[in-house]
Amino acid sequence: MHFDILTLFPDIFESVFNESIVKRAREAGLVSIAAHNIRDYATDKHRMTDEPPYGGGGGMIMKPEPIFRAVEAILDLEEGQEPEVPVILFSPQGRLFTQSVARELSRHPRLVLICGHYEGVDERVRQFLASDEISIGDYVLTGGEIPALVIVDAVTRLVPGVLGDPAATFEDSHAESLLEYPHYTRPQVFRGWPVPEVLLSGNHAEIVRWRRREALRRTFERRPDLLAKARLSPADRDFLQHLSEGAAKICQ
Ligand code: SAM
Repeated sequence: MHFDILTLFPDIFESVFNESIVKRAREAGLVSIAAHNIRDYATDKHRMTDEPPYGGGGGMIMKPEPIFRAVEAILDLEEGQEPEVPVILFSPQGRLFTQSVARELSRHPRLVLICGHYEGVDERVRQFLASDEISIGDYVLTGGEIPALVIVDAVTRLVPGVLGDPAATFEDSHAESLLEYPHYTRPQVFRGWPVPEVLLSGNHAEIVRWRRREALRRTFERRPDLLAKARLSPADRDFLQHLSEGAAKICQ
């Protein structure tokens, strides 16, 4: 997987991507990341990348020419040629980034990520260059660099070979519209708080059952909205019914 990040602030990325799992994935050649400075593709004397908005109003708007030129140069395209690689524009107006979008993106060998800044990006970038527009949440950040960090990190975890146990990503929170069960490690008793007995039992079937139920319980208590999309067995439904009857009794 190769990520091309177009940004006005390329130095933001190296410290984060030079640590831990992303660093190891890069060293193993599973992932490569290039941060390109949009300013390098500005052609005027002052290498301008932003201008005030037509129609007035505050703030600056990122100009289209350097962004188009950057994408065309990076992907080796003729002027006006349509990219075959997904070109993602970050915007608080885009579709919401979720674990299933991360999995969808991880199936591509290459992604181009455009980080906006200031008041945003000239609309023609969205209309005629970007193939996707992604938001990481219903709030407004100063720029698309943090969304790029989020997406590169979340997608990298899903690239085959990056995690020691790839099956683990299918149990992660949000992978199957459920929150994950709780985890415990040594010591067995910490400040008088013991690890649940079942996890020490060595009974694998019981542990699987307990974890499934805890995942259902957490999702029911914290994010019941997710359950509508979860794939539930008859046993899962019985357990949720039991939880909801318990909750109804407490409210009476
Ligand atoms: N004026 C724009 C609006 O109201 O839609 C917001 C511009 S924001 C200050 C500047 C840039 O930050 C955006 O162009 C985008 O690239 C990025 N950005 C801000 N919030 C974001 C979010 N929630 N998700 C993705 N990108 C975001």
